[in-house]
Amino acid sequence: MKLKVLIVAGDGIGPEVTAEGARILRSVAELGGYEFEIREALIGGVAIKAEGTPLPPATLDAALDSDAVLLGAVGGNEFNSLPPDRRPEAGLLQIRQALGGFANLRPAFAHPALAVNSPLKPEVIDGADILFVRELLGGLYFGEPRVWEKEAGYAWNTMRYTRDEVIRVARIAFELAQKRRKKLTSVDKANVLEVSQLWRATVTELARQYPDVTLEHQYVDAMAMHLMNTPRNYDVVLTENLFGDILSDESGVITGSLGMLPSATIGGHVNLYEPIHGSAPDIAGKGLANPLGAILTVAMLLRHSANLEQDAQAIETAVRKVLEQGYRTADLARTEKDKKMVLSTQEMGQRVHQTLNEIIDKRQALHAV
Ligand code: NAD
Repeated sequence: MKLKVLIVAGDGIGPEVTAEGARILRSVAELGGYEFEIREALIGGVAIKAEGTPLPPATLDAALDSDAVLLGAVGGNEFNSLPPDRRPEAGLLQIRQALGGFANLRPAFAHPALAVNSPLKPEVIDGADILFVRELLGGLYFGEPRVWEKEAGYAWNTMRYTRDEVIRVARIAFELAQKRRKKLTSVDKANVLEVSQLWRATVTELARQYPDVTLEHQYVDAMAMHLMNTPRNYDVVLTENLFGDILSDESGVITGSLGMLPSATIGGHVNLYEPIHGSAPDIAGKGLANPLGAILTVAMLLRHSANLEQDAQAIETAVRKVLEQGYRTADLARTEKDKKMVLSTQEMGQRVHQTLNEIIDKRQALHAV
C-alpha cells in the first residue's frame, strides 16, 4: 500500500491537533507495513508570514502531487482587519478549489460515553448519527461577483448554483444514504431564494433514480431547530455550502464538542481531510485543544483515500475506548468526574495512540494464529 499524504497544519491549534493525527497516521503505516510518504507544507497565516501568501505555489504543487491532503486549521486574530481575499482563510478556499473536491462529508455521531457531555439531554442525543454532505465549491463562498466597496459603504456576495453542481453532490448524498439508513434530508431556503428553488427541484428530480431512499426537504431555519430537538430523526443531510457550514458546527453540540468532528472532501482530483473546527486562537498553544476530530479525520483519510477500512475502524474504536475509560480534554470536561480525567492535547493523542497499537497488535496476533 503506497500513499502520498501532504500535511498542512496551518495556524492556532491546527499544528497541535494535526501533530496527534500525524502520530496516528505514522503508527498505522508502521504497524501495517504500509509505504506512506508524508510531507509537510505551509498554509494560512504561517504561510503569509513566511511567503507573503496564504497558499504558496510550493504548497499547491505538493498538494496536487499527493493522494490526500491533511489540513489542520487556518486563521488568526492578527489578520482580522485584512480583506477576505488576503486573509489566511483565502488559502483554505483556494486549496479546496484547486483540489476540486465538491462533497464535504461531516459525520456527527453521539458517542454513548459522552452522553452527559452534551448540553442536550442524553435521551435527546441517544442514537444520533448524522452524515452531513455539504456542497463545498459553490454558493456564497465562491459565487461571483463579490464586492466590498469600503469607502462607498456597500458589499455583496453571490449565492449561485448550476443544476449540474447540485446533481453531482446530491448523487453522492443519495449513494451514501443507500449504504446507511436510506433517508436523505435536503436543506434549503426555497421559500425565499431562487437558488434554493433550483436546488429543491433538482434534488427532487434526482430522487426518482433512488427509489429506495426516502427524501424530505427542510428549510434551513427550521432545520437548525429540529437538529437540536430531534437529532435522531436524521440520517444523511444534504446542504449547500453556507448552510452546511453552520449546521455541521451546530451538530458539535450533539457530539459534545466542535473538537470531536472530522471531515473528508471527496469528488475532486485529490481528497482533502480536515477537522471541522477553526484555529481556535482563544486556546492555541495551551495544550487545551481536543485532537479527536483530527484523529478521526485520519480514519476518514484511510477509509476514503487508501481503502484501509479495518485501520479506519481501529482508530474509531481506539477513540471510543479512550472515551469509555473516562479520559477527556478540557472542552469535554463537564462533570466533576470528567474534570479529574482531563488530559492535554498531546496526552490525549498518546492515549489514543497506545490504545490503537494494542488493537492492531491483537488483530495481528489473531491473524498469525
Ligand atoms: P473555531 O472553530 O476556531 O472555535 C470556536 C470555539 O470552539 C472556540 O471557543 C474554540 O476554543 C472551540 N474549539 C474549536 N476547536 C476546538 C478543539 N479542537 N478543541 C477544543 N475547543 C475547540 O471558530 P472561530 O473562533 O469562529 O474562528 C477562529 C478562527 O478560525 C477564525 O480565524 C476563523 O476564520 C478560522 N476558521 C478556520 C476554519 C478552518 O480552517 N477550516 C474553520 C472555521 C474557522
